Amino acid sequence: MKNSLYLTCIFALIIFSSCKKDYIETTPAPPPPIVVPPVAPPTEATDSTLLMGNPSSATDNQADFGNYLMKEGYYSVSYNRDRGIANWVSWHVVYSDFGSFARQNDFRANQAVPDGWYKVESFSYSASGFDRGHICPSSDRTSSLEANSATFLMTNIIPQAPKNNQGPWAALETYCRNLVQGGNELYIISGAYGEGGTGDNGAATTIDNGKVTVPANLWKVIVVLTDGGDDLKRVKNNTRVISVIMPNVNPVNPTNPEWRSFRTSVDDIESQTGYDILSKVTKSVQDVIEAKVDNL
Ligand code: MN
Ligand code: MN
Repeated sequence: MKNSLYLTCIFALIIFSSCKKDYIETTPAPPPPIVVPPVAPPTEATDSTLLMGNPSSATDNQADFGNYLMKEGYYSVSYNRDRGIANWVSWHVVYSDFGSFARQNDFRANQAVPDGWYKVESFSYSASGFDRGHICPSSDRTSSLEANSATFLMTNIIPQAPKNNQGPWAALETYCRNLVQGGNELYIISGAYGEGGTGDNGAATTIDNGKVTVPANLWKVIVVLTDGGDDLKRVKNNTRVISVIMPNVNPVNPTNPEWRSFRTSVDDIESQTGYDILSKVTKSVQDVIEAKVDNL
């Protein structure tokens, strides 16, 4: 009797402790994964990539081979046939552009380059000492496979000094995405001018048997707006605009990926390139925001 009571006690203790254990270890079911709907490429009616303007008045006339407009949906390009690179690329970044689609790495020739023009290939930069540097970054376009894949067309790629691409240039790209994560939307116009850069194999003016020009300088203009509508009208004298010019060389100190020291004004970029950037913005506002150098 004493023995069976003892056993009952043990048994009860085991049940109690296992119940207690169950109670402690039961955690709420994990929330369902957040599904980000893919962002469809903008149609003609919703295209926001050139909302701030077409800096060089690029056209889709093939006779305009030095300034040929190519709309990829997720960004727009002024392509230069004889340089084998873009003059500039223009795009819009909103929070819904960020999703879960991984970097596709499917660098490829853009078949929309007109027949008879040289098509830069995925391997055109091989052993050149230059990175295949994105102008519109892969990480700005992760809402769908198509969106990400679009950034790997070689018309969105420039031969870029690797430690610039992976250093201050990448740091500025990350800074921009953080601004979007923080409740802003961005209009970004970015390009390259001049001839002659220095990559990991030394200086070069062209690669790919002279078919691709190595630009001397890379530039970027970022218009920062709090997330909202009617964007063009919201660009005012106090709108933050971040502009940089970076020489296409490996930075002296690649472990310090500081982009801020490359800041300049939009006016400076306009005088270097001959473009009218932000041309859709009211002239009086352009005069103010293009003269400033960001200092935040
Ligand atoms: Mn890059
Ligand atoms: Mn302007």
